Amino acid sequence: MRNTWKRMLSFLAAAAVMFAFASAPASADTVVGVGPDGSAGQQSQSAGPQSAGPGPGTAQNTAGTPAAQNSAGPSAEQGSAGAQGAASSGAAASYDNSFALSANYAMFFHNTGWGNWSPDNQRVYRTSTYPTAFKAVLAGAQPATVSGTIQYQVNVSGTGWSAVAENGQPAGNEGGTAPLEAVRVWLNGDLASGFDVYTMVMTGGQWGNWVMNGQDAGEIGTGKHIDGVRIAVVKKGAQPAEVPETAAAAVYSGGGSVDPSRPMIALTFDDGPAAPDNRILAALEAVGGRATFFMVGQNVKGHPDIIRRMMADGCELGNHSWSHPQLNKLSAGEVRSQINRTNDAIAAVAGHGATVMRCPYGATGGSVKSVLGDMGYASILWSIDTLDWKTRNASSTVSSVLNNVKDGDIILMHSLYGATAEAVETMVPELVRRGYQLVTVSELAAARGGMKAGTNIGSFRK
Ligand code: ZN
Repeated sequence: MRNTWKRMLSFLAAAAVMFAFASAPASADTVVGVGPDGSAGQQSQSAGPQSAGPGPGTAQNTAGTPAAQNSAGPSAEQGSAGAQGAASSGAAASYDNSFALSANYAMFFHNTGWGNWSPDNQRVYRTSTYPTAFKAVLAGAQPATVSGTIQYQVNVSGTGWSAVAENGQPAGNEGGTAPLEAVRVWLNGDLASGFDVYTMVMTGGQWGNWVMNGQDAGEIGTGKHIDGVRIAVVKKGAQPAEVPETAAAAVYSGGGSVDPSRPMIALTFDDGPAAPDNRILAALEAVGGRATFFMVGQNVKGHPDIIRRMMADGCELGNHSWSHPQLNKLSAGEVRSQINRTNDAIAAVAGHGATVMRCPYGATGGSVKSVLGDMGYASILWSIDTLDWKTRNASSTVSSVLNNVKDGDIILMHSLYGATAEAVETMVPELVRRGYQLVTVSELAAARGGMKAGTNIGSFRK
């Protein structure tokens, strides 16, 4: 998340420069957009933000050439033309892109179902199956006065472009067997003037190039399906950040810096969010540390501020079921519902669901492992059980950690108790003094060989 803030600051600086240009009549021709082909946006004196053409739904029957896209789709040209129109008329810039905006998205994979919500600019793919549906939402601080949302279509093998969907509506055929050959993603309304959305797909195991603002991503009619997708929203004219594929898991959970050669541990807190999390987060903030919070879905709604603070700190949001049942005693459908309901509640605050999962009581029998595997989750257990819930004694919790901790540990604590927060305030500075990096579960996994869906993971000790 620190990187994100840095990026945001540089965007703000860039935006300030753009606005400075846009409001100066002498620089009315300053190019503030980049066309879908990567070239500078075309000037248009007449087109304003309101003149943006119809959505690419009207382009369904045209060839997928860049020219057709430009004339019918919600291309960057219209966005930059809007800004240009405002600038050339001498009026203040007619759009606001001074706020953070990002995309979250998920794919439905044949035989395995919906994957996790992915944060912006991350690679979502499976090579063992193929996607049949896609959905996306926006996350960020879009002001109520700024119109627009994210819209998209998928090209389904054999039937062509789907209807236009938006705001998390699935596009495609979740239960069908026809794979997706391409996707188109764009922003509409005021957002199209201030932001660009980039899309990249994997086809045949290879990631292609970025396309933007409603251009086709994928090969249509060649018999190839896409394997996955990657989407990034940027300020108009900016480029998506480079994200090395090997680092995806680290960025996935907040982007804190991790030195893989140094010792690291994952502090984890179950059963929240709850008020003591604020003390836990303050103790982590003091040292630039991070943790993973496995949250109970029914507790999420009451604590949006805590979840936002977790995200700002680069902490990882985990799923701990909706109502804390023994999942091994439930049907596969009930297990799935417990997980999905919680992800929906988290996504309502965070913009995306949980990136890791821990079962209540560590109970992973019954259908649990196979459901988790289908949903792309490993089952995260622990290597040090502090028993903080039982002792409610800070010094006992502190010594259970400091007397046993080793590189690669996953440490189990709970969000609910003041005594735990007190223990964290004591142990965190000492753990840092001993040289441990306090990282998220996904960061730990990324540094130590990764996580395999459907398996139990208790530690990453070397
Ligand atoms: Zn629990």
